Amino acid sequence: MASKTPKPRAVQHFTHNHPLTELNIACDFICDGCKTYGSDKTYRCEPCNYDLHEYCATCPFTLQNFTHPQHEISLFRQKQSTRQNERVCDICNESVEGLFYRCKLCEFDVHPLCTQLPQHVRHVLHPAHHLEFRLGGESTCMVCQGSCQSWRYRCELCKFDIHIECILAVCNTSPSNQTDESGTKSRGLKAQGGQSSSLASRRPSIGRRMFRVLKALTVGVVCNLIAGPISEALK
Ligand SMILES: [Zn+2]
Ligand SMILES: [Zn+2]
Ligand SMILES: [Zn+2]
Ligand SMILES: [Zn+2]
Ligand SMILES: [Zn+2]
Ligand SMILES: [Zn+2]
Repeated sequence: MASKTPKPRAVQHFTHNHPLTELNIACDFICDGCKTYGSDKTYRCEPCNYDLHEYCATCPFTLQNFTHPQHEISLFRQKQSTRQNERVCDICNESVEGLFYRCKLCEFDVHPLCTQLPQHVRHVLHPAHHLEFRLGGESTCMVCQGSCQSWRYRCELCKFDIHIECILAVCNTSPSNQTDESGTKSRGLKAQGGQSSSLASRRPSIGRRMFRVLKALTVGVVCNLIAGPISEALK
């Protein structure tokens, strides 16, 4: 009998022998491509219990990305990681395993998902200007007051920096909290969420915390971020 429900999309991916079917799921999974957490949507081979992120199932073999504008980066697949060939993502500093992008010339490595972080955000602690995701020297994160060493969201004009993972910290911006610029701002901050142990035994390469950040930033629903297309905001 003919059904009006559209057939779920299926892809044949080079990392797996069987076709993968698009599926919306309620629980988290670990992507068998990039070995990091995923949720909501997977491309799955049911008999093999094989999952890929939507992005890992569809991302191109070569990519021009703002995180490495000087060269094209290429998709690599490392079958086994050993102590000798262990590498870390230049963006988030977590290890890369399985599928990742690399610039061979520069030995630049990046998780597929880390190439999907937004280049610009607007944050409640710094509503005047947009923050750009970029590499910088040592400075202080305005959310946790910790030191920023590599990639961060930055307003270059004001030298205002926020760690990637601190973008999600709950910021209390009530007027009483803004009277003392340097002292009281951190009082309203509280890191969100907790550790979940259900997947811990499988040791994914991106920690739970980083996964939450990536998920929230790539789908664009973060409480601290000011909504609206950045092109509008920059006018
Ligand atoms: Zn993946
Ligand atoms: Zn299979
Ligand atoms: Zn990364
Ligand atoms: Zn390069
Ligand atoms: Zn921070
Ligand atoms: Zn600024």
